[in-house]
Amino acid sequence: MYTDTHNHTIEFSPDAKMTIDDLVSSALVRNIGRIGITEHYEIDNPDPGDNIRTFDLQAYDRAFKQWTAKYEGKIELLKGIEFGYQTTTAEKIDKTVDENDFDIVLLSNHLFGNRDVYFSSTVYKTERKERHRTYIGKMAEMADRCRDYDVIAHFDYVNRYNPVKDETVFYDDCPGEFDALFETIISREKALEINTRSIEAQIRKSSSHIMPDRKIIERYIEMGGKLISLGSDSHSPETIGIHFGNTAEYLKSLGINEVCYFKGRKIFTEEI
Ligand SMILES: [Zn+2]
Ligand SMILES: [Zn+2]
Repeated sequence: MYTDTHNHTIEFSPDAKMTIDDLVSSALVRNIGRIGITEHYEIDNPDPGDNIRTFDLQAYDRAFKQWTAKYEGKIELLKGIEFGYQTTTAEKIDKTVDENDFDIVLLSNHLFGNRDVYFSSTVYKTERKERHRTYIGKMAEMADRCRDYDVIAHFDYVNRYNPVKDETVFYDDCPGEFDALFETIISREKALEINTRSIEAQIRKSSSHIMPDRKIIERYIEMGGKLISLGSDSHSPETIGIHFGNTAEYLKSLGINEVCYFKGRKIFTEEI
């Protein structure tokens, strides 16, 4: 049984296509016993073409209580949120976390040049190393400037929509930026997410780099990193827990035998 720590529902994430009922039904047949609901929350989203914004957190709290009651004894639900970061929103993110009662808080960077990577036509015109240095540098800043969070989500989001199939985010593209990110999250006991939707994206484009660059994870471990979470970043039911088995094998080959999740903002680990 695995915990899938990163999922979206249609109720609060405009880009999702599944209801909570779809999500739970799918999780139950896919060996997922615990689900993180991590709805998008993008404060002051600068991308005019992106409909992902903020939502009513009190309505979310009410809905989550109903979902928990409905599925009690069948599956464990974790009340989460996925913040989209900008330099100008770090304090607002911390304040929102402080004022609410979450189990798990993800921090993400969806932007490159003020456009969501999903919509950006310029991101892949930037040379690979420069693109990754800029993006991972921003994640290092995010990890440092925000104080109250649990997980750094999809460090490889910048590559997800890359039309060049054999590119991925390599440690050697920007070792200084990766080291800065790792130094911060390790010292603050935050987790690094392995995003299996990114793995699925690489498989779909028949890339020769399916799994994350081993050097990234090796360096994280070498610096003292222990906390890794698994998230499918599902927006529809068919991808819940996708590639968790392969990812567990990949992590074991790197000497990692457990992953983590957060409940009530506390760290829990489970064997893989
Ligand atoms: Zn995301
Ligand atoms: Zn997500």
